[in-house]
Amino acid sequence: MVDFALSDTERDIRDWVRNFVQRELMPLEQQVLDRERRGERGLTKEETEALRDKARQAGFWGVQTPEEYGGMGLSAVLTALVEVELGRTFVPFTFGGAADNILYYGNEEQKQRYLIPTIEGTRKSCFAITEPDAGSDAKNIRTTARKEGSEWVIDGEKTFITGGIDADFTMVFAVTDKEKGADGGVTCFLVDRDMGWTSEPIDIMGEWDRQPAALTFDGVRVPEENVLGEVGNGFGLAMQWIGRGRYLLPARALGGCERMVEMATEYSQSRKTFGAPIADRQAIQWMIADSAVEIEALRWLVLQAAWQVDQGMDSRHAQSIAKLHGGVRANEIVDRVMQIHGGMGYTRELPIERWYRDLRLLRIFEGTDEIQRRTVARNLLKGHASVRGVLG
Ligand SMILES: Cc1cc2nc3c(=O)[nH]c(=O)nc-3n(C[C@H](O)[C@H](O)[C@H](O)COP(=O)(O)OP(=O)(O)OC[C@H]3O[C@@H](n4cnc5c(N)ncnc54)[C@H](O)[C@@H]3O)c2cc1C
Repeated sequence: MVDFALSDTERDIRDWVRNFVQRELMPLEQQVLDRERRGERGLTKEETEALRDKARQAGFWGVQTPEEYGGMGLSAVLTALVEVELGRTFVPFTFGGAADNILYYGNEEQKQRYLIPTIEGTRKSCFAITEPDAGSDAKNIRTTARKEGSEWVIDGEKTFITGGIDADFTMVFAVTDKEKGADGGVTCFLVDRDMGWTSEPIDIMGEWDRQPAALTFDGVRVPEENVLGEVGNGFGLAMQWIGRGRYLLPARALGGCERMVEMATEYSQSRKTFGAPIADRQAIQWMIADSAVEIEALRWLVLQAAWQVDQGMDSRHAQSIAKLHGGVRANEIVDRVMQIHGGMGYTRELPIERWYRDLRLLRIFEGTDEIQRRTVARNLLKGHASVRGVLG
């Protein structure tokens, strides 16, 4: 039986987040816009912490963190629903209590030093694979690590590393066996900032509280116990990190699109031209209708990909489809919403231009549109997936 309904518990959790966003985050929107336009962070670290604490006191903490680590261990479907709600505001906020999925592969000591403090929010991580000459083709990374006694010495450069300015440690990927390359010759290292890597901020188009950075490793010495997982199995870990929740990026975009189409619907009824509200014009109605159709399609693509994750299925095909559709459609939707708002849409008085700049990233990071298309086509050409979809 196909059942699209949420259980009572699922609805309660979703509604709790919906209320939190309405009560705690949306009232901050004007302040966030004002600050960002002065070049400041939308929320200070203290404000983010206070909001996280408030949520934690209500039992909302560690959305996907397993219960044995104090988290809620929510399903992928519920996590997607949480992201949609958070996406309805541009206030830059995520709940506390989360850690990178690959840190769970650490040994007991690594878990105490890296995983637990990341969950608790006392240490911040960043994930570093991209290099100036290796983005989409991540197998082409050149950063090296060579063994000297009981230490590894890392040399190389990483770029576009989200949160690289604030991070206390990085999960960096380096070539430890050039012959093997990505197939057994890449290793992941946990490298504390005080081991010697440096970071330089990179200015970007969107508003990000986790500004990306270029990281430099110039003979950085790392003790051998800081290898995450096995020497040589780093590429697999990197792919697991990237694949940890591709459906969550379009989920957040979906929330933003819902909100913006609501704004456009409202505005079109109050804005009059030639003696009638613009909402009376078919040109405007079609923009609203097309956006609603695309939002609905995206909702089910996201939820279906999440559902596959919960079923323990290989969800990569569905996740690529959801990310591709989300990136392309969300950008079309924000463009239409700007169009409906006319000149006002282009001003900094309204948040549409902010969403416009932010959503553009979705087509680029964590696998560009072209790379998602490549994945989808390859899966079909090789028979790993069918256009008949999950129902067969
Ligand atoms: C804000 C931001 C945050 C990021 N955060 C992180 C992070 O935390 N950690 C990290 O490691 N990386 C991060 N990245 C890097 C990001 O994942 C890469 O930018 C992305 O994978 C694309 O790589 P590239 O920029 O080198 O583009 P390229 O790979 O050089 O691609 C350039 C263009 O060519 C196209 N192209 C490439 N190969 C093909 C092909 N085979 N067929 C058709 N078209 C192709 C691409 O789609 C793109 O349009 C971040 C990037 C940004 C912008």
